[in-house]
Amino acid sequence: MAFLGTAARRVMACQKPLLPLCHATTRCYSSQSTHTTEKSVPYEKTLKQEDGISGPTKPLPKFADVVVIGGGSLGCQTLYHLCKLGMTNVVLLERDRLTAGTTWHTAGLLWQLRPSDTEVELLAHTRNVISSELEEETGLETGWIQNGGLFIASNKQRLDEYKRLMSLGKAYGIESYVLSPAETKDLYPLMNVKDLYGTLYVPKDGTMDPAGTCTTLSRAATARGATVIENCPVTGIQIKVDDLGIKRLKAVETAHGTIQTPCVVNCAGVWATKLGKMAGVNVPLIAMHHAYVVTERIEGIQNMPNVRDHDASVYLRLQGDALSVGGYEHNPIFWEDVSDRFAFSLFDLDWDVFMQHIDGAVNRVPALEQTGIKSTVCGPESFTADHKPLMGEAPEVRGFFLGCGFNSAGMMLGGGCGKELAHWIIHGRPEKDMYGYDIRRFHHSLTNNNRWIRERSHESYAKNYSVVFPRLPVSL
Ligand SMILES: Cc1cc2nc3c(=O)[nH]c(=O)nc-3n(C[C@H](O)[C@H](O)[C@H](O)COP(=O)(O)OP(=O)(O)OC[C@H]3O[C@@H](n4cnc5c(N)ncnc54)[C@H](O)[C@@H]3O)c2cc1C
Repeated sequence: MAFLGTAARRVMACQKPLLPLCHATTRCYSSQSTHTTEKSVPYEKTLKQEDGISGPTKPLPKFADVVVIGGGSLGCQTLYHLCKLGMTNVVLLERDRLTAGTTWHTAGLLWQLRPSDTEVELLAHTRNVISSELEEETGLETGWIQNGGLFIASNKQRLDEYKRLMSLGKAYGIESYVLSPAETKDLYPLMNVKDLYGTLYVPKDGTMDPAGTCTTLSRAATARGATVIENCPVTGIQIKVDDLGIKRLKAVETAHGTIQTPCVVNCAGVWATKLGKMAGVNVPLIAMHHAYVVTERIEGIQNMPNVRDHDASVYLRLQGDALSVGGYEHNPIFWEDVSDRFAFSLFDLDWDVFMQHIDGAVNRVPALEQTGIKSTVCGPESFTADHKPLMGEAPEVRGFFLGCGFNSAGMMLGGGCGKELAHWIIHGRPEKDMYGYDIRRFHHSLTNNNRWIRERSHESYAKNYSVVFPRLPVSL
């Protein structure tokens, strides 16, 4: 078993030239980006029980008012909210099974406070849907765990940022407290608080369960009349040109039939660019590896809040009596050839890249130094040039909507964004000020400029946890 603390040292040892010992006696962690389907993480086995089934799980209708493509967080939330707003002839097409793309292995953290009014409202809506609305409607629990959230300030600038967040939260009725290091130690006894300026504690933050959330959303939507069809990859999109020369959505093609529809929502995660190409629409996102490791049991960690140590660029998520440790690296790995066969799959973790989180994690919770690593979870996620999602109607084709590019926040933003997308489709515009997410914020000369998309997405990934100062463009 590898200990978290020794993992970093081992990787460094492996990096030194002429180290035959490393090959002979210890395992050098792989730096290859091959993917594997056999990882000991939850959901994989249960959701893959019906391996081998081919063909759609339901017959395809001839016509639908809206076809949602992709059965992850965004597809399921959008479908549910379309139904809640009264649309019932709506179909969700999922290539594999629900959650098979990125959603099944998400960390599922939901933080209510972000440096943007709109985002605070979007997050509040997600939280409301998964913590109460869905259960009231279906009688099913989504798996929401309200264990709280703790942001760590290791310098004054950061603490000032948290005070601004607390003020913003007050306006929206979100309970939060700025704690001193001593108060933080009382709340989280396993934490090293010696180097802290203070923390921001939000007791009603928590953790979402991806399978529970998506299953419940899809049940609620189908009870309202929607159709969810799994094992049904979309293979083509038909466009027509109207009398005024405007391109409009005509139909969605699959290997099992064609659905006539005036409206498609592209919620295909890292595969959204491929779906866009089928319709002649640019979808400016980049697929990257994003990872966390799950530790062995840690005595005394039960019921602790999730932690975001922005300055160390790591998060610690409570997972029962263990922690998941993840973060944002300066040198993320791009997934160059996005594969259509990747379902409920993971990449091997590249320890050379991931090791930069270890020191920060061990510094914050020293017990991690001697804690084993149970499993690694490294999957694909889409990132965009300004670290904001891509939503709304594509300028190239009427009726082609985007709900993708979620920059590792697609679980917590899913409910709010699903609702806005539904409103956008039905009423022609979103309810809230969604300019920061609207695909039209990018000039068309940039949306197919791969070098620009790649370099800016890399930059915004690496800067994800930077301090957000007032009046600067917000970051996640
Ligand atoms: C390691 C990791 C940790 C994360 N932690 C968090 C977190 O703590 N909090 C948070 O909010 N977010 C987190 N995220 C991000 C979050 O999980 C994603 O943003 C979210 O799951 C994306 O959902 P989605 O619906 O956009 O994409 P996906 O879940 O990928 O769904 C897209 C679906 O489209 C389907 N599809 C693709 N092509 C086709 C086709 N041709 N026809 C039909 N279907 C198709 C795929 O099979 C897939 O199921 C994390 C991500 C990773 C990788």
